[in-house]
Amino acid sequence: MATIIGPIDVSALRARLDRASAAAEQAGVDALLISPGSDLRYLIGAGGDSFERLTCLALPVGGTPTLVVPKLEQPGYAAIPTGELGVEVVTWVDGEDPYALVKAALKGSRTAVADMMPALHTIKLGQAIGGTQSLAGPIIRELRMRKDAAEIDALRKAGAAIDRVHARMGEFLRVGRTEREVAHDIALAIVEEGHTVAEFVIVGSGPNGASPHHRDSDRVVQAGDVVVIDIGGPVAEGYNSDSTRTYVMGEPSYDDVRDTYAVLQAAQQAAVDAVKPGVTCEEVDAAARTVIADAGFGEFFVHRTGHGIGLDVHEEPYIVSGNSLPLEAGMAFSVEPGIYLPGRWGARIEDIVVATPDGVESFNNRPHDLVVL
Ligand code: ZN
Ligand code: ZN
Ligand code: ZN
Repeated sequence: MATIIGPIDVSALRARLDRASAAAEQAGVDALLISPGSDLRYLIGAGGDSFERLTCLALPVGGTPTLVVPKLEQPGYAAIPTGELGVEVVTWVDGEDPYALVKAALKGSRTAVADMMPALHTIKLGQAIGGTQSLAGPIIRELRMRKDAAEIDALRKAGAAIDRVHARMGEFLRVGRTEREVAHDIALAIVEEGHTVAEFVIVGSGPNGASPHHRDSDRVVQAGDVVVIDIGGPVAEGYNSDSTRTYVMGEPSYDDVRDTYAVLQAAQQAAVDAVKPGVTCEEVDAAARTVIADAGFGEFFVHRTGHGIGLDVHEEPYIVSGNSLPLEAGMAFSVEPGIYLPGRWGARIEDIVVATPDGVESFNNRPHDLVVL
């Protein structure tokens, strides 16, 4: 079932459909084929997931955008102003061949399919249409990675909402509670503070903090633990928050915590300070990495510095070595270096920022210091 994500701005969506079609033409394909997911949300405002029955927006260059949707799913799209968007809706029922309906909406057979389309549909569309199939991601990303004013407002709102959760961390994170208990309370607070759902909650206490994508566990938080809390989720508009702060339960149990954390703090600040239009993604990564490597912790910073964010928590542009894409105003992404000392403790600081015409704005504004609880 599709859901409506936030208020629908018809003229903005029409412009996106036009730009997507122009970008497809530029890329030398005849049509984009978009299944439910964040690309479809971006283009027509409809949320929802892909299932075994095909739902697909066919966006032919120079043709009529056509939404092929199972009859039983159609009510979920009733609130999408397809008429005003110039999108034709074609329904099908069990027993019919939806792939042939997509083919009928096309003018050529060079198609680009949504990156996250299930293989079930990708392969059957390829068999029905023939021609060539490529990924739509590199085409759609040219639109999605430059946020407009409404998208930036939604990300700003999400950032403020997750900041309010971090501000309340003393209510949840206490010695003697399990990570799972802490995570449960944080998830409730994420919704209380304005998100529609708690998309993810990482509570990495003590040695678990050294595993960057640890979720939670039955480990009981101990006095002296360093605890990594990485949390986020979408607000009503569909745009996500994602912010990490590192806490310590009283005096840290290792005597290298404060000095090492100071290195991390300097690295995160150096990367944020590097952000402005024209600077490349890999230069922002290097700004953080150099500080950490120069202090001797290079081998303990085991991931890229950041990822773009919007309707997806992780999207383009990636702030990573090898990405020479120059930043432009409107590109929003995380700056989240970490230092992970296996078996002992870890720390990460993560803010979402956006490149502005003359520099950077941070959507997360809680202090960066190690927070003593
Ligand atoms: Zn991550
Ligand atoms: Zn995060
Ligand atoms: Zn992140």
